[in-house]
Amino acid sequence: MYKMMTPGPTQVLEHVRMAGSRACINPDLDTEFIEFYKETCELISSLLHTKNETLILGGEGILGLEACCASLTEPGDRVLVLDNGVYGKGFADFVSMYGGVPDLYHADYQKELDAGDLAQYLACHSGYKYATLVHCDTPSGMLNNIGRICPLLKQHGILTVVDSVSAMFGEYVNADEFQADLLCGGSQKAVSAPPGLAFVVMSPDAKAAIRNRKSPIASFYASLSIFEHYYENKWFPYTMPASDIYMLRAALDDIAADPGIFSRHAAIGNATRKTLQDAGLNLYLKSGFSNTVTVFCVPEDISVNDVLEQMKEKHRILLAGSFDVLSGRVIRIGHMGVNAAISHMVETLGALDDVLRGFGVPLQVRLDEHFLHLVHASGEARL
Ligand SMILES: *Cc1c(COP(=O)(O)O)cnc(C)c1O
Repeated sequence: MYKMMTPGPTQVLEHVRMAGSRACINPDLDTEFIEFYKETCELISSLLHTKNETLILGGEGILGLEACCASLTEPGDRVLVLDNGVYGKGFADFVSMYGGVPDLYHADYQKELDAGDLAQYLACHSGYKYATLVHCDTPSGMLNNIGRICPLLKQHGILTVVDSVSAMFGEYVNADEFQADLLCGGSQKAVSAPPGLAFVVMSPDAKAAIRNRKSPIASFYASLSIFEHYYENKWFPYTMPASDIYMLRAALDDIAADPGIFSRHAAIGNATRKTLQDAGLNLYLKSGFSNTVTVFCVPEDISVNDVLEQMKEKHRILLAGSFDVLSGRVIRIGHMGVNAAISHMVETLGALDDVLRGFGVPLQVRLDEHFLHLVHASGEARL
């Protein structure tokens, strides 16, 4: 067994796992479960500060992204794909797959999206049904300011599909203020439940756009409209993975009972970034640092895979490399959800210190000690 310090899946607490061991029920025939499902959806909405309806989908985080594109896109629709990261760009595939025409807005992969630049672009480009954007683009750790960008798009009459799978519950989200129309999350990132569930928060505008389509949605499983009236009819469109939803609920209850969650993520994110920089390592990003994941460059003469392998085999800790344009260049530490704890980070950075020095990297500070000093100086005390 390895300690998972990856940016999803994260570690899952025992009582959350145990919540999945409740007796299995028939999700369609057991009315208590239908209530439980609805309450869990409402809990997600309330944690994201909105009365908009949330749906929990029986599929991995990716299903939420695909379902949003499938449900909104009609053949020929023009869609603005905001691309300053691997997931950002990836939305173009879902748009095309459902007959839409993606228009890629490329921006620097090392900087957060600039709302001013986007405003200029929107002044001379129009005709988009919706736009896609990523809150935290996990391969680079890029945090985009969705609270600025969604309202800007909304002013131009453009609906938004936001992937906040690896940000929400580690970074503050207010779905109403941010004006996100379809907001996607997943169970295995900052929520720290097992992988297997996606959820989507839907604004009235998004629902109207889906309802007013002229052509049918080209998918059943990836359609958001199949859930319409599930509660009135007491019938789900497909059998819900009840055990997964029990675990999700236990993890969400923990989040609801944890008022210090965002300040803790911020304290740990800041201390991690500063520790690596003070040690002489470079962060991949220039701006837009998410407090859920830190991405640093591995010195050129050292193999990312060798470092990851030693972390794994010598210290039993899993860190992640990255993929696409970042493959073989960086290492990612996932400090989201349950992982965002001082004790886990001290152990992880202590091991990383040992491995990097073993490969001859001249670190200027002891990573674990320096981190602990910084995080305590910030006032964060919970281990
Ligand atoms: C993890 C993640 C998802 C879900 O994708 P999986 O690779 O299937 O886990 C979607 N978007 C982002 C930004 C993610 O980090």
